[in-house]
Amino acid sequence: MEANATPRDRAASHDLADIRAQFPILEREVNGRPLVYLDSAASAQQPQRVIDRIERYCREQHANVHRGAHALSVEATEAFEGARQLVAGHVGVSDPAEIVFTRGTTESVNLVAASWGAANVGAGDEIVLTKMEHHSNIVPWQLLARRTGAVLRYVDVTPDGRLDLDDYARLLGPRTRLVGVTHVSNGLGTINPVVEITELAHDAGALVLVDGAQAAPHLMVDTHAIGCDFYAFSGHKMCGPTGIGALWARRELLEGMEPYQGGGEMISEVTLEGSKWAEIPHKFEAGTPNIAGAVGFGEAVAFLSDVGHDRLAAHEDEIIAYALERLSAVPGVTLYGPRENRTSVFSFTLGDIHPHDLSTILDQGGIAIRAGHHCNQPLMDHMGVSATARASFYLYNTRAEVDALIDGLGMAARVFGGVSSTE
Ligand code: PLP
Repeated sequence: MEANATPRDRAASHDLADIRAQFPILEREVNGRPLVYLDSAASAQQPQRVIDRIERYCREQHANVHRGAHALSVEATEAFEGARQLVAGHVGVSDPAEIVFTRGTTESVNLVAASWGAANVGAGDEIVLTKMEHHSNIVPWQLLARRTGAVLRYVDVTPDGRLDLDDYARLLGPRTRLVGVTHVSNGLGTINPVVEITELAHDAGALVLVDGAQAAPHLMVDTHAIGCDFYAFSGHKMCGPTGIGALWARRELLEGMEPYQGGGEMISEVTLEGSKWAEIPHKFEAGTPNIAGAVGFGEAVAFLSDVGHDRLAAHEDEIIAYALERLSAVPGVTLYGPRENRTSVFSFTLGDIHPHDLSTILDQGGIAIRAGHHCNQPLMDHMGVSATARASFYLYNTRAEVDALIDGLGMAARVFGGVSSTE
């Protein structure tokens, strides 16, 4: 803490120390240096209470869910369905039946493409996506297009990393069946105007799927206020475990859709001639679900709710401002993405140094960043790069960790013999 810190600064620093203390992994060292974890956009760390909740479930409550008449099965079911309610609340949904547990955002999009898409998209119909989508909101639609003869169209991205809304308006037409858009770009940090995008899509008669993987961890999400039709997100990006996520859709949409997979749990009756489906959301949850994962996911959103959106947002604003200031001042750094209306995901290159080399050097100092195309190959092509380095921050990161990143970049520039390019 600097000598001229105000009482407010001191309170904020105390608050952050309190949050950090809840994440045991932040105490460890990597390569002999304190871990500086700047890869939360790939997967966020888990607080002790999430770890404890999963452990308690496994130790005391584990049994298969639904239909069990014994006490443990009832308890496991209560924990599982309680988690659904918590997850629903996190995205402003009051009816937990509208939340389908999936393996994550990827499976949520695949579910919509396979189930809704197969019934509603035909040859010559159009699906509008954007050039900043994660592969998981592109490839399922390419598979659908291959099966049906549908056509995919992609909204352009402006040089400052925003969606070109004029291009978007031009792409919408009478054949548009669905618009798929990321709420927040994992490659650029851009927060997209999903309300406006949804209104325009609905005016054109199309439904809207929002990929919320990078938004649900950072923003106050209200699916009803957005007005979209589908919202997909992942537990592991919001302090929960991997292998669990959710799809939200309006009740009548889910009720009108065919199951995604068949098996146990998703039926109400099976005969040799045919089957009847269970009520939503179970119709979409074939097989024994990831019960421990769901319970951990529920605890993660309870944790975020206890931290409070205002605290989260204030911390995020501070880190964004500080990281932008410091990164922009590093000679040779090219920063991608907008300066405003963004989250704390920063993609950049440093001169001619390959992002993988940069990541390896930083790792020597215990600093974890990601390097590569970030499952954003079309975006990388559009930006004219094959890869970027990406530092992503979350509620436990400090200004000192921004400083550590900047020092690490300085060291990388020295190791690689200076930085020639300042493009
Ligand atoms: N969409 C975005 C914007 C993402 O950042 C990610 C993960 O990186 C995904 C989708 C896929 O999420 P998952 O791998 O949890 O299914």
